[in-house]
Amino acid sequence: APVLQLTDVRKRYETGALAVDALRGVSLQVNAGEYVAVVGPSGSGKSTLMHILGCLDTPTAGTYHLAGVDVSAMDETALAHVRNARIGFVFQQFHLLPSLPAWRNVELPLLYAGTPRSERRERAMAALERVGLADRVDHKPNELSGGQQQRVAVARALVTEPALILADEPTGNLDSKSTADVLGLLADLHAGGRTIVLITHDAEVAEAAARVVRIADGLVTEDYLNGGAV
Ligand code: ADP
Ligand code: ADP
Repeated sequence: APVLQLTDVRKRYETGALAVDALRGVSLQVNAGEYVAVVGPSGSGKSTLMHILGCLDTPTAGTYHLAGVDVSAMDETALAHVRNARIGFVFQQFHLLPSLPAWRNVELPLLYAGTPRSERRERAMAALERVGLADRVDHKPNELSGGQQQRVAVARALVTEPALILADEPTGNLDSKSTADVLGLLADLHAGGRTIVLITHDAEVAEAAARVVRIADGLVTEDYLNGGAV
């Protein structure tokens, strides 16, 4: 079954008399275990699409099914629940809490989900080990490099075992070495069966994914498999 299915999704922003059609009929299916990059220039609709895929916003028209559930018309409370249970987010700006050690940052989604304390710690440790940071669990974000901070964020995204990992310009704040490091980690997670959607304006970063979906002016213009990458 598909992890996510968009059917003729449209998004219109209305500000006073002005209307902008940011998405003009996007249909997209991503199956379990796929690693898909959504690429497009500034203004093409990537952020709008990311917000819909991430259940941060709903379409003006069309439907979005996530893990078999129609989330297109859910209210904010229901969306927040789906978001925490089904999606692991990785952002450009890491969004780690600076006062908390790595493992406390990683356990946060489990805290919101009501997971018991002992299980939270165990699962946070396992997720940090998974991203190669078993020896940094007590470090605070400012005691870690940018690449390490993003790996903590990836561990946080993994800890709930989400249906979908949604990475929004995850390498946008990283130098080339850390970029390669984080892209290597995502490829590794894909090899382990995770479903990943990466959103980027950078065509080179997109080539790290197994499948590339290009959008322009609110429409999908290309959808292809990368020969080399798996
Ligand atoms: P990208 O992330 O690819 O730069 P966006 O999804 O941010 O693209 O924007 C797509 C189009 O929608 C642009 O024309 C942008 O100006 C417009 N847009 C985005 N967000 C809003 C908003 N909140 N209100 C009005 N227009 C918006
Ligand atoms: P970036 O770091 O890539 O610039 P942003 O900080 O702009 O990403 O976040 C992208 C969008 O996701 C923003 O609209 C922001 O409000 C929203 N967002 C960021 N963090 C969270 C979160 N933890 N939960 C829900 N929405 C979030």
